[in-house]
Amino acid sequence: MEQLRHARHWVFDLDGTLTCAVHDFAAIRKALDIPPEADILHHLAALPKNQAASKRKWLLEHERTLALAARTTPGALELVRELQRRGCQLGILTRNSRELALLSLQAIGLAGCFAATDVIGRDELPPKPDPAGLLHLAAQWQVSPQDLVMVGDYRFDLECAKAAGSLAILVGLPENPWPALADLFAKDCGQLLTML
Ligand SMILES: [Mg+2]
Repeated sequence: MEQLRHARHWVFDLDGTLTCAVHDFAAIRKALDIPPEADILHHLAALPKNQAASKRKWLLEHERTLALAARTTPGALELVRELQRRGCQLGILTRNSRELALLSLQAIGLAGCFAATDVIGRDELPPKPDPAGLLHLAAQWQVSPQDLVMVGDYRFDLECAKAAGSLAILVGLPENPWPALADLFAKDCGQLLTML
C-alpha cells in the first residue's frame, strides 16, 4: 500500500496493540470486594471517601505491577524500531494513564522510541474514540491529521482515526470485525511490518 510506505507519522494504541492485555478484572473485583457485575471505577466512585481512597491506591499499585510485567505483541518491537530507523515520528494514544503507559514502554524496551510528550493518556485529553489526542499530536508535529496513521486493536482506535481524518489500521485480531472502519487490517504488528 503506497500510502503506508510513505507514512512518516505513526500513533499507536498500547494495550492489545503493542502490549498484551494483562488486566485481570475478576481478580481486581475479588481483591477490592466489588460485585462481579459492577463497573469498577463507578463502584469506587460511589463508596465513602476513605474506603474509596484506599481501594484506588490498591488499584493504582496493582496497575503499576501489571505495567512492569507488560509483554509485547508479536512483531511490535520490530515494527516500532523499524519505523524509528526510518526516521518516523512516533506517538502513543491510550486510555490508560500516561505514567503507566511510560512504565509499560520501559518494561518492553520501547521507552527510547517515544518522547514522553508524544504519549497521550486518559488524563491529558478526552479519551478515544474522541479524536482530540490525534489532533493534538498532529498539531504538535506540525502536520495535517490526514498525514497520521493510527494503529489499534479496538473500534475506538478506528473511530478516533476516522473522526480525525487519519488512516485507520486494525491489528491484534484474527479477523477484522469492523471492515467499514478499518482502512487496513493486519493480524499483528509483525504482519503490518511486512506491508511497509
Ligand atoms: Mg487496545
